[in-house]
Amino acid sequence: MMPKITISTPKEAAMGLTGSWRTFRPVVNREACNRCGICAMYCPDAVIDQDTMEIDLVYCKGCGICSNECPKKCIEMVREEH
Ligand code: SF4
Ligand code: SF4
Repeated sequence: MMPKITISTPKEAAMGLTGSWRTFRPVVNREACNRCGICAMYCPDAVIDQDTMEIDLVYCKGCGICSNECPKKCIEMVREEH
């Protein structure tokens, strides 16, 4: 099996924080998810835990790549309510 590596890692400084500008947030349908880890592998901010599939919304930018790449289509992008 291919190792699950991420393209980048989130920055530790405040500049890595997302703040309140995100328009959509990813929500995982846990009943449909088979924990294949593809979403975590593609997330450019490396904010999806590869074991639990928990998404760290402090760093998530809402780009939707995880939702687009999920083969089971079980990540829905939901509009943020500000
Ligand atoms: S890509 Fe989809 S099915 Fe695979 S771990 Fe992520 S949410 Fe689950
Ligand atoms: S929306 Fe983008 S930044 Fe957020 S978890 Fe998905 S791929 Fe990562």
